Amino acid sequence: MKESCGLFGIFGDAEAVQKVFFGLHSLQHRGQESAGIASSDGEFINCYTGMGTVRRVFRNSSQILAKLSNPIAIGHVRYSTTGASKIVNSQPLLSEYSRGQVAVAHNGNLINALLLRDEYEAYGSIFKSTSDTEVITHLLAKPTHVSNPDPLAHVLNHLQGAYSLLFLFADRIEATRDPYGIRPLCIGQTEGGCYVIASETCAFDAIGAKFVREVEPGEIVRLDKDGLNSRFFVKPGTVTPAHCIFEHIYFAKQNSYIFGENVHEFRKKLGRQLAIEHPADADVVMPVPDSGTSAAIGYAEQSKIPFDMGMVRSHYIGRTFISPGQRLRELEVKLKLQVVKEVVDGKSVVLVDDSIVRGTTTRGKIRAIRKAGAKQIHMRVSCPPLRFPCFYGVDFPTKEELLANNRNLLQIKEFLEVDSVDYMSLEGLLQCATLPADHYCTACWNGKYRIPVDVALNKFTTERYQMHMFEEVSDL
Ligand code: SF4
Repeated sequence: MKESCGLFGIFGDAEAVQKVFFGLHSLQHRGQESAGIASSDGEFINCYTGMGTVRRVFRNSSQILAKLSNPIAIGHVRYSTTGASKIVNSQPLLSEYSRGQVAVAHNGNLINALLLRDEYEAYGSIFKSTSDTEVITHLLAKPTHVSNPDPLAHVLNHLQGAYSLLFLFADRIEATRDPYGIRPLCIGQTEGGCYVIASETCAFDAIGAKFVREVEPGEIVRLDKDGLNSRFFVKPGTVTPAHCIFEHIYFAKQNSYIFGENVHEFRKKLGRQLAIEHPADADVVMPVPDSGTSAAIGYAEQSKIPFDMGMVRSHYIGRTFISPGQRLRELEVKLKLQVVKEVVDGKSVVLVDDSIVRGTTTRGKIRAIRKAGAKQIHMRVSCPPLRFPCFYGVDFPTKEELLANNRNLLQIKEFLEVDSVDYMSLEGLLQCATLPADHYCTACWNGKYRIPVDVALNKFTTERYQMHMFEEVSDL
C-alpha cells in the first residue's frame, strides 16, 4: 500500500530550493515514483520534474538546483493513485493562464475529477496529463472563475475528495486543505523567520525549522512579502473533520507530529492497547520493521514480554521494480527483510505489524521466521481488518484482493500459517487517538465513506489512450 504524495514549500529564503530538496528527501516515504521542484523569482516560475526518487531526479543536484535557485519554491514527491506513473503526471504541474503562471502540488485524490474533466473536454479543453490534479488548473483558468473576488476559494468549493495543495504563483504560495482535513499539512518557520509548509513535520526537522501549527481543514494560508495570511473557503466548524487515521498507523514518519500528536507515541499507544485486547503467551515480541516497530515497543511494555529485533530491514535496496510474478516478489521481500535466527530460534514469538493488506508478503515473513526455528508465532495487528478500498489518496488493492474481505479470523490464521492472529478493535484504535472518534476517517475498516463515493465513477484512472513518453522532460 502506498501513500499518494508529499508536499514542501518555502517563501522568501535565499536557500529556498536547497531546503525544498532536503524537505523532499525527508518526505520520500510518501512517494517514490516522481519528484519535482518549482521556484519563482517573483516574476517567473521555473520547474524541473523527473521520474524516480528525489536522489535520482536531482542526481546532478548542484547544476539543477543552481538553475532553479529562487527565493520562493515548492516541491512534490509522488505516488500515483489517479493517473499513471508517467512523466506527464509528475508534479509540480506548471501551467500558464490569463493571470500568469501557476505550479500546483497535490496530496490526495479528487473523487469528482473524472466528472470535471469530462465537462471541460466536452467544451474543447485539452489536458496535458492524466492526473486528477490538472482539473484544478482548468478550474482556475475558467473566465467566470478568474473574475471571482477570490478565485482560489471559489475553485476549491468545486472540488470533492481529499486534497492538501500547494499553489505557487509568481509572487506567492497558497496552501490549503480540504474541509475534512483528510491528509495532513503543517506550517513551520525557519530560524531566519521564513514560513515553510510541509505534509509532515519531519520535513521541518530536516531543515532546522520549528513547527508552528497545522493548516486547518478548509483554510487557505497565503505566504507572500507581507508574511502569513489566513482565510477560510468553508466556514470553520461547519464540517466535522475526517483525518485519515491510517496516516498515524502506517504512512507518516515516526518523528512527525500530525493531527495533534506525535506518530511514534500514537503507535506505542496502539501497541499497549493491542496487548490489553489480545495478550499472548510468548518469549519475545518482535516487529515487522519499520512501521510495526513503535506498536511492538508498546505491546512489549504492556505485556512485560521482552522486545527484540527478530527481523532487520535493508535500507539500501529501495524499490527494485522487478515485477510482477509472485516468486520474484517473495525474493524481493527476502532481500529487504531478513530474520535474526538467534532471536527466534526455539522461541514463542509475538509478531507485531501495523496492518495486513493482501497477506501474501506477511505470510512470506512468517514462513521465514518459522524456518529460522520459531516454535510458535502469534500475529498481532495494530489496526482492525482492512475490508474496503480507499478513495481518498491511498493506493489500495481491490476489495476482493484484501485478505480480510470474506475471510473470518480462522481462515486468516490458516492463510497466514500462524498459531494465532488477532487485530486491534476499531473502538480500541479510536480510544488511543487524541481527537474525538468522529474526527477520523475509518472507511477502510467499516466502509463508511464520509464523502460519498460513486465507486463506478472512480476507477482511479483518466487514461484513455496509450501515451508513449520515452524521454524525461522538464520545463527548465
Ligand atoms: S479509507 Fe482508510 S486509508 Fe483512506 S482516508 Fe480513510 S482511513 Fe485513510
